[in-house]
Amino acid sequence: MAKNNKKEEYCMFCGRSETEVPLLRGIDSCICAECVQRCNEYIREIGMTEAPRHGKIDKLLKPKEIHEYLDQYVIGQDRAKKLLSVAVYNHYKRINHNLDRQDDLDIEKSNILMVGPTGTGKTLIAKTIANLLNVPFTIVDATVLTEAGYVGEDVESILSRLLQEADYDVDLAERGIVFIDEIDKIARKSDNPSITRDVSGEGVQQAMLKLLEGSIVNVPPKGGRKHPEQEFVKVNTKNILFICGGAFEGIERRIAQRLNTQVIGYGAAGRQKIDKDNLLQYVSSQDLRAYGLIPEIIGRLPVITYLDHLDRDALIRILTEPKNAIIRQYERLFELDGIKLQIGEGVLELIVDTALENKLGARGLRSICEQIMTDAMYDAPSSRKKTFDLTLDYAKKKLGLDR
Ligand code: ADP
Repeated sequence: MAKNNKKEEYCMFCGRSETEVPLLRGIDSCICAECVQRCNEYIREIGMTEAPRHGKIDKLLKPKEIHEYLDQYVIGQDRAKKLLSVAVYNHYKRINHNLDRQDDLDIEKSNILMVGPTGTGKTLIAKTIANLLNVPFTIVDATVLTEAGYVGEDVESILSRLLQEADYDVDLAERGIVFIDEIDKIARKSDNPSITRDVSGEGVQQAMLKLLEGSIVNVPPKGGRKHPEQEFVKVNTKNILFICGGAFEGIERRIAQRLNTQVIGYGAAGRQKIDKDNLLQYVSSQDLRAYGLIPEIIGRLPVITYLDHLDRDALIRILTEPKNAIIRQYERLFELDGIKLQIGEGVLELIVDTALENKLGARGLRSICEQIMTDAMYDAPSSRKKTFDLTLDYAKKKLGLDR
């Protein structure tokens, strides 16, 4: 009897009943298989070939694969690469798990903090991973951020940029990666937070919390307060991976202090000898707190890693080995004019030593190369020579070191 009482349902598009066509039921509406087919054809017709996205990453790369990819672009920094490969893998595995999950085990996200001197590859690692995963990526400088209502950018502007990178596809932006550079510059300036307003320090950290912990944020699509008429877009930051970087200059002193006072306490007897030349490797949340990051922010950055100083050997490798190494780029530029660039003995060492002297690390390599190459790149295309010999004497002359 019950069967007869059941109301007959109809396709809300073509009006046919379930006795005529198979129906797909929604919450309070139905659509028939033929209309679904027609919708598909229509989508193809108007050029929207991709199926709508639901936030799932189809092919998850394993940590080892991510590491191998990073090796092609980033020299050294093995510890950071390994940690990031695992963190990124877990992050995207987590997104898929939470979408499919049958139980209530919600895996929380793990944002990352990279501590290391400037020009050692923090941004490069984050950028390379985003390239590999093909997710929207944006870099923001924490120094331009201020508390809402003050001169500077609100923290929400970070998400405006990510939205822009994602072509305003909110779904896509919600799976992106944000790299916040110079996070150390918004450390609390004094131990007593109440003395004066600290609009670019603790206030920004507090504002940033809500982004890092995962919440729905009202984002002005064009950023800033200059367009008050614009409508807000709601962006959920739950699945956005935040990678923060900072040089934390002077943090070694605090690490040393902590390590020295830790002699008593359990584990002290069996403790390994401390490598005093590279104290950054021992960096912990305690040191970051002593430096001026608020505990809530540290709690939202559970993965902490460090980057090594780049020595002479590493800088020489950076010049030649990465897939888009600077020297390879110059070779290609000359090649496009049919000229072979030959680099003489000692030239790479000269470039690296000059960079080390200028204390610019890897960041200085390109400008030094430009200084050496500009005249050659000006003259060579008009000459008939098929090779250009970049000798040590020539390079020294261009750097003004021949006097
Ligand atoms: P930061 O640590 O300050 O974020 P970047 O990642 O921006 O430094 O590095 C600046 C530039 O120096 C990069 O674009 C890259 O060309 C070069 N570089 C720095 N570190 C490395 C590295 N480990 N391997 C290869 N290139 C590097």
